[in-house]
Amino acid sequence: MVVPPLLRAVIMGPPGSGKGTVSARIIKHFGVKHLSSGDLLRDNMQKKTEVGILAKSYIDQGRLIPDDIMTRLMLSELKGLDQYNWLLDGFPRTVAQAEALDKTCQIDTVIDLDVPFETIKRRLTARWIHPASGRVYNLEFSPPKVQGTDDITGEPLVQRDDDKPETVTKRLQAYDAQTKPVLEYYREKGLLKSFSGTETNKIWPHIYAFLLTRLPDVSQKDADTPR
Ligand code: AMP
Repeated sequence: MVVPPLLRAVIMGPPGSGKGTVSARIIKHFGVKHLSSGDLLRDNMQKKTEVGILAKSYIDQGRLIPDDIMTRLMLSELKGLDQYNWLLDGFPRTVAQAEALDKTCQIDTVIDLDVPFETIKRRLTARWIHPASGRVYNLEFSPPKVQGTDDITGEPLVQRDDDKPETVTKRLQAYDAQTKPVLEYYREKGLLKSFSGTETNKIWPHIYAFLLTRLPDVSQKDADTPR
């Protein structure tokens, strides 16, 4: 029996690109192990490990964890996943990390969610809250009855600092500057597979079809419905 080679994949995409949703669907349909650097760091911070304490000081300042620390952490985690198909999320974030990863394994494919910044901005800035009650509105999915005011009290709604257009623009620009070299690195190696679109549900069938050429769908029900 010929055993197909294990899948070594990376997923990349800016905040608000639908990366979480797509990753969850990939896990569900293809049973791959998902390793998220952000989740791993948060887990370490919660457990107050040495790495966690160090990571917190960087994350609190909105900075990246130094490459050597990050690489050691991720590569040691990957050792335990030797026998599995896996999908990396949030790592590599720099070319140095990508090079270190290349030294230990061969990446097969990099799934890049290419969603226009304007679409992401609209998505991320759609959230408005009523501070006194914590009620959350979304201008696209659950708008208030009267624009800008809370349905129950009629009081004004506000945006969290994180959701304000200027903050969102800054976050997106930072992502762009940071990850562009990594995308280029993988593009030059012919590994970058970009999926463009404005809606996750429209992008997903293409990602599903692409991965199906590599892996069987292991989800229990509706195996032929890619959702
Ligand atoms: P995330 O949940 O992926 O946005 O990660 C949260 C934070 O963890 C980031 O803002 C970084 O400070 C740090 N982080 C996550 N992944 C990496 C990485 N590959 N390299 C450096 N820092 C990282």
